Amino acid sequence: MNSTEKFRNYINGQWQNSISGKEYDVFNPADKNQLLGSIPFCSKKDADLAIDAASSSLHEWSNITAPERGEILFEVLRIMDSRKLDLAETITLEEGKVLSDSEAEVKRAMNIIQFSAGEGRRLLGNTSQSENENNVSYTMRKPLGVVGIITPWNFPLAIPAWKIAPALICGNTVIFKPAFSTPLSAIKLVEIFEEAGLPPGVINLVTGSGSEIGQSLVEDNRVQGISFTGSTEIGTKIYSDGASKLKKIQCEMGGKNAVIVLKDADIEKAAKDVVIGAFGSTGQRCTATSRVIIEQEIYEEFIEKMLIFTKELKTGNGIDPDIDIGPLSSLDQLEKVTEYIGLGVEQGGKILIGGHRLEGEIFDDGFYVEPTIFVDVDKENIVAKEEIFGPVLISFKVADLSEALDITNDVDFGLSSSIYTKDIKQAYKYINNVDTGMVHVNSPTLGGEVHLPFGGLKSSGVGHREQGEEGFNFFSELISVYIDHS
Ligand code: NAD
Repeated sequence: MNSTEKFRNYINGQWQNSISGKEYDVFNPADKNQLLGSIPFCSKKDADLAIDAASSSLHEWSNITAPERGEILFEVLRIMDSRKLDLAETITLEEGKVLSDSEAEVKRAMNIIQFSAGEGRRLLGNTSQSENENNVSYTMRKPLGVVGIITPWNFPLAIPAWKIAPALICGNTVIFKPAFSTPLSAIKLVEIFEEAGLPPGVINLVTGSGSEIGQSLVEDNRVQGISFTGSTEIGTKIYSDGASKLKKIQCEMGGKNAVIVLKDADIEKAAKDVVIGAFGSTGQRCTATSRVIIEQEIYEEFIEKMLIFTKELKTGNGIDPDIDIGPLSSLDQLEKVTEYIGLGVEQGGKILIGGHRLEGEIFDDGFYVEPTIFVDVDKENIVAKEEIFGPVLISFKVADLSEALDITNDVDFGLSSSIYTKDIKQAYKYINNVDTGMVHVNSPTLGGEVHLPFGGLKSSGVGHREQGEEGFNFFSELISVYIDHS
């Protein structure tokens, strides 16, 4: 059903149109004829208003005690709990992932809000022994100030939550710029913060183009920190532009995550996990499995198992509970993924299954592509090296763990990785030699728990990790205090 609802920005506690009055429409990627609503198309002027509001409210917010700030986050949690299904449906409608994945995303957002709310009673510093008699020294945390939060479309609720909640508990005020194609989850999240009693100006939402609003946040001297998740291309630009302004910057970016399967692995479990890791959420997770590296002794058997599990997957509209794989999130994504598949074939890769856009009936109205497995791929093939960000898995046959590690590490990215083996020595060799920020043994490359740091090495991440204690370290400054009471 079409929705002609007109959504607004949230600045200084007011829901308002863009200054220019310009809007854009958001559609369902599972059915491009379904209009989801109109969104303000903002410019630098709107971003300036939001920065004014966040700057004016900073003093008051940062002087509320951290446990009181935590109480507001606990209230956010209670309201989210009562709206779980609505939030999950919104994610599926605007992003396309299947409802069960959206429900898992809502749960993840709630976990991080709960974790951050509890931190209101900690935000610890250290005391240390002074070298002078009758002196005390300790460290304490102060907020960074006004922070810009710039997020991608693939986790439109969880990624904003895992940045905004730690930012707020540390006493910062926020300007939130969600992805262009998924603003509805962002709007619902901000509505919940408002209802939970967050004072005006503490969180501000500005929707529209990243190059204009996002860039304004990076360039404005009143913004002290930027937390960005998105592509390596944009993250690199934000990091260097922000550094020239001496801002604190955190960028979480792309991945090309590999799973190694050794000959002693539980093949059934490993094959299932690889297929879920590669094709779940239509391969549009930063931690999705995009390469599988298999020891030669079990190669044929493993490929056969993956084929069986892949054939069982049903692709369609993610709002239908029987569907396993939803559409890609936009026409741009569809064009990019099918172009990569074509290039992979041109460069000598062989397709074992999939490889095409799905057509006919409901598929003509959305952006659907078949889950695709490549075999016999040269290590230098573009599909072996670059992030595709779709349901495309590249397989390699190797002689042993050393060769598997060489292939795993021979890419620019270093986000997540996994090994399947029962041999503890091989597992430790892998853990100690793999170049990724997150390492799994006998579990998929996906996700993470909110109390552990999340992020990547090399071109996958720069600056502080997100989540866990590191999340609070990014959003606060440690001050050293010396007291002489002699
Ligand atoms: P993107 O880089 O195109 O956009 C991300 C955000 O940046 C959007 O809000 C966009 O509007 C904004 N933006 C665009 N140009 C900008 C500019 N010049 N200045 C400031 N902001 C700007 O990424 P995307 O397509 O939305 O997301 C997909 C990418 O995100 C993939 O590469 C994926 O791997 C990555 N990702 C990484 C993680 C992680 O934690 N490492 C998590 C999820 C997604």
